[in-house]
Amino acid sequence: MTDTITRRNMMELGAGATLALTTGSVLHAQTGGQASVGYAVVGLGKLSLGQILPALQRTKNAHLAALVSGHPDKAKKVAAQYGLPETAIYNYENFDSIAKNPAIQVVYIVLPNSMHADFTIRSFKAGKHVLCEKPMAVTLEECERMIAAGKAANRQLMIAYRCQYEPVNVTAMQLMRKGTVGTPRLVNAVMGKQTDLSDPSDAWRLDMKMSGGGALADMGIYGINATRYLLNEEPVEVRGWARTDKNDPRFKTVEDMIAWQMRFPSGAIGDGSSCFSQPGTMAWQVVGSERRLVADPGCFYGGNSVRIVGGRNDPQPQVAEIDHFGNEMDWFGDVVRGRAPNVSPGEEGLQDMRIMHAIMQSVANGGQTVKLDTAYRRTYDPATVVGVRTSA
Ligand code: NDP
Repeated sequence: MTDTITRRNMMELGAGATLALTTGSVLHAQTGGQASVGYAVVGLGKLSLGQILPALQRTKNAHLAALVSGHPDKAKKVAAQYGLPETAIYNYENFDSIAKNPAIQVVYIVLPNSMHADFTIRSFKAGKHVLCEKPMAVTLEECERMIAAGKAANRQLMIAYRCQYEPVNVTAMQLMRKGTVGTPRLVNAVMGKQTDLSDPSDAWRLDMKMSGGGALADMGIYGINATRYLLNEEPVEVRGWARTDKNDPRFKTVEDMIAWQMRFPSGAIGDGSSCFSQPGTMAWQVVGSERRLVADPGCFYGGNSVRIVGGRNDPQPQVAEIDHFGNEMDWFGDVVRGRAPNVSPGEEGLQDMRIMHAIMQSVANGGQTVKLDTAYRRTYDPATVVGVRTSA
């Protein structure tokens, strides 16, 4: 069987989908009923140039409509490369005039974290939908303002958790829901990379004012998010420890190595670490009472896999590669046209921010246990609504 991500028929999606379908007609009118949604990409850095713009060449429901950059020469070169007219180039000062450009329906914010809230709120004021990179923002208060601004403007806010739309991770979630591992006991996540102060893309990550945090906010967030979507429950308390060499010029304001534990109501434990001075790693494993699921790598841009370990002759999941970013932008294209549910709205980004803030609070208090607000529940389980077929 071919392995493909599919938009399931809305009838298959259950009650939540009905809600999306109902609001969909309104949203469809907002996009003028177009077949493909126009994206303005804000910030032409590593992620935009390396992944997002190339991916927009392959999307079905999304296309590049505008660029926003602080560097006009770079923007002109990139616009020419992607066949955009110079009139589709904006900068951070004239950004608000995107309101007058009906070719833009979605703004994709790919800026340093401290700029996410401001540009999200400005995009909503301009009447656009927003796809915002992770981490959602720097403070909880910013996240709350972003969510409120989206609601006030009646526009969608999606946080770019690409792994929630990616077949390896979705397959793993489906195996978890089927009880493949038995009773989940432990989820272990290791996320990290080597940072380089001379790389402008890392320089802001190593500056607390711009990043809002070090290894945890940049890489650890994938582990926290994965633990939550694999277990499909929310932690009730956390603890954290960090170790940072303050003599290392990279770590004057942010943490380097950090480890945490999360306790879940089912009794499962989430155990994770993140580090800014290790080779690139994005791995997780679930230890259950009967089997393990192992994904290493589990969250890279490509080459991910998930294996079932411990069973006898278990068929291993065979999952085809997809373009994470293209798939995510296509999905959001469907969200704004009311054809798919918003699986990772602002509330989902805020939940990870709450957990990360609690971990940092624990670190500051010598690893003390910090209790969490337990009210949040995700509206849509990616395992159910993000269709994926596997040969396993
Ligand atoms: P880069 O530093 O490579 O790019 C950020 C861009 O933002 C810059 O190139 C610049 O674009 C613009 N910018 C505007 N003001 C500033 C400023 N004061 N300092 C630095 N840059 C500025 O970062 P990334 O592309 O790696 O990351 C961008 C966002 O994407 C972050 O939130 C990050 O967490 C997220 N990310 C998500 C990933 C994922 O897998 N989902 C992977 C990597 C990053 P210009 O010159 O055009 O103005």
